[in-house]
Parts: sequence; structure tokens; C-alpha cells
Amino acid sequence: MNVALRTSDCIKCSACNTVCPVVSIDGISGFSGPRNLVVDLPRFFAGRMISSQEIFKCTTCWKCEEVCPSSLPLPDSILRLREMMFNEKNLVEGHKRIVENIDRYGRSIEPQLGERMVYVKHEAEILYFPGCISEMRVTSIFDATVQLLEKADVKFGIPANWVCCGAPLEKIGDLNRLESLREMNLMRFGRFDEIITSCPGCTTQFFRHYDRDPLHTIEVLWEATRKNRLKFKPPRNSIRVALHHPCHIKRTIGPQIIDQAYDLLQSIPKVKIVELEDPDKCCGGGGGVVAGFPDLALKLATSKMMDACRSGADILLAPCPFCVLNLRRVDIGRVEEFITFINVYAEREA
Ligand code: SF4
Ligand code: SF4
Repeated sequence: MNVALRTSDCIKCSACNTVCPVVSIDGISGFSGPRNLVVDLPRFFAGRMISSQEIFKCTTCWKCEEVCPSSLPLPDSILRLREMMFNEKNLVEGHKRIVENIDRYGRSIEPQLGERMVYVKHEAEILYFPGCISEMRVTSIFDATVQLLEKADVKFGIPANWVCCGAPLEKIGDLNRLESLREMNLMRFGRFDEIITSCPGCTTQFFRHYDRDPLHTIEVLWEATRKNRLKFKPPRNSIRVALHHPCHIKRTIGPQIIDQAYDLLQSIPKVKIVELEDPDKCCGGGGGVVAGFPDLALKLATSKMMDACRSGADILLAPCPFCVLNLRRVDIGRVEEFITFINVYAEREA
């Protein structure tokens, strides 16, 4: 990915540092912040090495770029720095494990539950790419997605022998391995151009590195509801839910998917939506930070769960497997994956 960074366009407002979730937890002494890492250090302190630890603390939430008045590509520049600094021998323990798992299993995580059902139906028109976390950790996402796509009468198949999309490798700067995974997956996708994913990380990866235009499951279900192929029954008792806006939906694949998620929730009778104070605040689940800096990721998740508790919601819904995994490490409040929640109330339209 080409990153054209015009450091002279920085007006030194520090808005990027002010909104950075990692700075808010670690302070500028623990994480220099996007302005310092991307603009000031390379510009004024060319000889100073950036600490390899520090550069991997960024959760790639894209918030800094959102607020930058000069639209500087700050997260992409951080990813580029990671790529330039990549050295297998210097990886932190959690990142070493990602590389080992990919070399051994073709997945970013060690299989615990065995491979799930894998098939391509003859009449399939589109592929569903489950992703590592949905297949092997938060498996309710895989099951719910398959059931929902069937209810919505989507003719889908799941590619045999798919491998990790490579998103975790991009986050640690290992673009050579990412390229091998990309080639393997493209071979396995065969005749299919269209892909559905249930993970915003995979979705982002496919449009950034595979030159594909994938659909997130929410987009497919929203369309099915609009065309009256899905309807929703009410829960027995009313439920108050709050929606977490994952960074990789809100600021990378598209904020319209958040609107569609709200539309789907509003279609379920007796489900009341309550607003989070800062719904798109990063939960710490992305950027390889859970694997590399689990304590930092836990602090970010705790802050999010405290917001959810303050909102009065019975359940915090998160439409991202990585967010769900990280948020569930906190022992307050209840977190449900969005698709899994929707599936409980969705019915095929007669
Ligand atoms: S992408 Fe997010 S975590 Fe990374 S530097 Fe920017 S604001 Fe901070
Ligand atoms: S927000 Fe943009 S312009 Fe402001 S300090 Fe950060 S990089 Fe510079």
C-alpha cells in the first residue's frame, strides 16, 4: 500500500494525539502518539530510532486520521513503519505466536475446536469467508451467519482450505507472508469474485490487499430485510441494547454499515436501543494489540465496558469478532456478537 505523507502539511494542532486511545491510557510517555511517531520524529529527529515496542501499541483505530485537518494518512504510515521495522527475531511473544500459527495451521490462532463445516455448494453464487476467530473462538458467529444466510435465501458456499486473510500479518509488518496467504486464498476462491465476511478485519483486508469489494454480513442481511426475505420475532421480555461501533467498520469499511446495524435492531420488536456516550471509542481489539500488549488491550476494553454499564444497556452488541474477544476479557457487563444476537430473532419471510 502506497503511503504519501506530506509531513509539511502538519499544522501541529495535536488533535491526533488528543483523540488517540492509546495515549489516553498509556500517556505520551508510554506511547508517543501519532503526531510524534509519524510527523515529528522522522522530520526532526531522523537519527532517533523509534522503539519497536512502541510502534506496535497502535490499535489502528483510524481515529487520528479522522480528526486530522490535513488528512494525513497517520495509521497507514504507522503500518508502513511496522513493515520497515519487521524483523522476526524482535517480535514480542504474542506476535511470534501469530507467525508460528500461520506457518503451522494457516490460521492466526491455534485450532481449539477443529475445523468447521467446509463446503462449496454447486449452486453457490457468493462465498462466505468465516475468518479465524469466527471459525475457532467465537464460533457462534460462524453458526449464526450460516443460519442467517440460509434464512435469507442467499446462495453461498464456503471455500475449502481457506487460510487466514492476512490481517494480523499486516498489523505486525510481515507483508511477505501476507502475500503468500493472499495467493493461496485467491486460488481457493476460484471462480467467485464476491465474498461475504463476518469480520471487519477480513473485510478491510480484502479491499486493501486482494483488490476485492467484499460485503460485510450486516450489508447482506440489511438488503434481505429490505427485500422482505427476513423478518424478526420479538424476545419474550424487552431488552435494552447498546451498539459498539467497531473502528474497522466505522472508519475503514464504511459508516453506512453502522446505520444498517441500527436499522436491523429497530426491526426487532421489544428491542430498545440505548446510546453509548462515545460509541466509536476503540475497545482495544485491533492492530495486533491484544496479542502483543494484552494489558493495554484490557484497559481499553474495560473503559468501553464501563461506558456500556453507564448507558443502562442489558447487552453491549459488537459486530466484530476481535472486539467481542477482547471485550469478554472484562468481567463486568454482558457482550454479545451482533450477528449472533440478530439470528435469535430472525425468521425466513413466508
Ligand atoms: S490509529 Fe488510533 S491508536 Fe493508532 S495512533 Fe491513530 S488514534 Fe492512536
Ligand atoms: S492532527 Fe494532523 S495536523 Fe494536527 S498535529 Fe496531528 S498530524 Fe498534525
